[in-house]
Amino acid sequence: MDFNKENDTIAQRVSAMNNRVQNIQENDLYYYNQPISELLGGSRVLVNGREMGMYASYSYLGLVGHPRINEAAKAAIDKYGTGTHGVRLLAGSLVIHEELEETIAEFKKAEAAVTYSSGYATNLTVISTLLGRGDYVICDKLNHASIVDGCLMSGAKFLRFKHNDMEALENRLNAIPSGATTLVIADSVFSMDGDIIDFPKMVELCNKYNAWLMIDEAHSVGVLGNKGTGIEEHFGLEGTIDIKMGTLSKTIPSVGGYVAGKRELIEYFKHASRAYIFSAALPPAQAAAAKAAFEVILDEPWRVEKLNKNTHQFISGIKERGFDTLYTETAIVPIICGSDENAYTMTQIAQKRGSFVLPVVSPAVPPGLARLRATITAAHESEDINKAMEDIEIAGKQVGII
Ligand SMILES: *Cc1c(COP(=O)(O)O)cnc(C)c1O
Repeated sequence: MDFNKENDTIAQRVSAMNNRVQNIQENDLYYYNQPISELLGGSRVLVNGREMGMYASYSYLGLVGHPRINEAAKAAIDKYGTGTHGVRLLAGSLVIHEELEETIAEFKKAEAAVTYSSGYATNLTVISTLLGRGDYVICDKLNHASIVDGCLMSGAKFLRFKHNDMEALENRLNAIPSGATTLVIADSVFSMDGDIIDFPKMVELCNKYNAWLMIDEAHSVGVLGNKGTGIEEHFGLEGTIDIKMGTLSKTIPSVGGYVAGKRELIEYFKHASRAYIFSAALPPAQAAAAKAAFEVILDEPWRVEKLNKNTHQFISGIKERGFDTLYTETAIVPIICGSDENAYTMTQIAQKRGSFVLPVVSPAVPPGLARLRATITAAHESEDINKAMEDIEIAGKQVGII
């Protein structure tokens, strides 16, 4: 294959991306795809032979490596082996899958739940199984890529509204032909910005316009609510989401995704969603780890408390140093750098000083809003957080944004 061929669009795409990557690498500003060689306990990792404080992890409650969760995974391997016998509908369903789904349903205060082998696949399959041509789907502009892809795949008419603007959502709902089926979807906590959806207003609008409501809780399980059960608990609005989607790969230190809701709905997914019928079941170790993790969240409430305390320390400290953190209220903290180059340079400085943060640049975020995206967890200690803030401050001063 010749990747410099002029009129071949595949070759053009491949070489455009590779040139961009190579350019960043040549300037020693490339910090993606770095393999972690060891977990050093708490929030420290070994990367390229160097110990660093981890500020890019989604393990919000510090559950990755938790002894009880590791033990559950090991016991499941001894009992079931490392794989399944196929897809869930046929021979792939294990007792541990059913136990996990019951645990999730209880945790999310839903009648039932179903799991899939990735969160990404969950959004694709759930949205495209619910909707078809002639239906409408309305998304917040900053919804996760997996939601966008699910909407496109469904064939429904796809509308978007200005980020977290409930007037804009109402305008969209108003414009839908009467009698058309409508699904409204939003992230609970936005993955690039860390802000929380105006959930009470969204629930009110969905009721008013008779629309279904789906919320992606990837970043709110373990994070929102006193017990860490998510956005309904946070706002005291239990039982208001029709389709409660989440992942098993963030606070829950496993892999996979789930959807919880009314029993009839879950039964429908178990017979109609293609990721359930045509993709292998979760491996037993990962299912057992996920089940144990939901239990640990409820049994160790100090973790949610500590996460809140750490998040508050970090956001207020970063703001005091003169950085813009947009509207975050959660463990995801965007630190606006301006240009992509500033974000790369600040990452380089912070990582050389021992704080593992990562840059988010366009097209993942709008041009000019490139950022470091730091994440805080319950595994950090107050002194660690001070050290990370100091490293970020030095980086910010060096590029001249504070
Ligand atoms: C991470 C994420 C997903 C995908 O989950 P995976 O388990 O990583 O496939 C879906 N939605 C949101 C909002 C996410 O942040």
